[in-house]
Amino acid sequence: MEKEYRVLLYYKFVKIENSKDFVNEHLSLCKELGLKGRILVAEEGINGTVSGTVEQTQAYMDTVREDSRFSDMVFKIDEARENAFKKMYVRHRNSIITLLPEDDVNPNEKVGTYLKPQEWYEMLQRDDVIIVDGRNDYEYEIGHFRGAIKPQVKNFKQFPKWIEENLSEHKDKKILTYCTGGIRCEKLTGVFLNHGFNEVYHLEGGIVTYGKDPEVQGKLFDGKCYVFDERISVKVNNTEEDMVVSKCKHCGKPSDRYINCTNDDCHDQHICCEECEKTYEGFCSSECVEYVRKYPSRDARLRLKKKLKTYEKYNQKHIKLFEAAKRLKKLDA
Ligand SMILES: [Zn+2]
Ligand SMILES: [Zn+2]
Repeated sequence: MEKEYRVLLYYKFVKIENSKDFVNEHLSLCKELGLKGRILVAEEGINGTVSGTVEQTQAYMDTVREDSRFSDMVFKIDEARENAFKKMYVRHRNSIITLLPEDDVNPNEKVGTYLKPQEWYEMLQRDDVIIVDGRNDYEYEIGHFRGAIKPQVKNFKQFPKWIEENLSEHKDKKILTYCTGGIRCEKLTGVFLNHGFNEVYHLEGGIVTYGKDPEVQGKLFDGKCYVFDERISVKVNNTEEDMVVSKCKHCGKPSDRYINCTNDDCHDQHICCEECEKTYEGFCSSECVEYVRKYPSRDARLRLKKKLKTYEKYNQKHIKLFEAAKRLKKLDA
């Protein structure tokens, strides 16, 4: 089948004045070109993934680079068979990569040393380095660099605290950080430097660039790279080392398929092999099967929630309903 579509991944930390107006203008541009995707805009810069035909994406890159602020924008290009998004969003945010105000860094003022894929590959094999995955646990789960640490963080904001608590004894080591396309490391390396680490390196262009490099071809990356669009994951290692590192939640067999739980009120993304998807009808757990069996339709669940709210207020005697209410609340959280 022909690959007539492209997915573009890009970011730039550059001051965008009147960023709210910029959002509206940029959305119009994207819609005019017929692109799909998700773009975040803040005063500190832009971060986007968009997809479209070869012509549409080319026109987009050309137009963006006409703006002097983005003339040197690096677009990572993936070929695809279809659009990677259903809609087009351009959203305004306070920042494109969010840290607590006291931890925030400006990558244009403080940033680690960039490594090209070949340099990164050589550095990975030294024994005086600590390799830190700069992403979330579900991203690490289906694929990561061999020997990388999975930080115990639920979101990016928790990184500074985690670094202080877990790595402060290793300030003499070389720190290597990586993420999907490089944007998170722009700030993460600054955080390491602010915490007193002297030698901090990051993989330029992230995992996706590393996988496309003709020399290293993704070597030493195990599993797949999670991406935030409908493809869910992409291949990185193009050598015979290619393998599956994650396991099916139900049977434990190697699998790198992420699916969303059939229970709409849960919708939890979990790794599930093809066989188990059929067997468990896409449910993540027996609790979710039970939940949907008890409250089969969404309307029924909503009516029940409303009813339970009333009981909670006016009738303390309905203990059974209270228990159900607690369960619903837990599932809602
Ligand atoms: Zn399975
Ligand atoms: Zn579930």
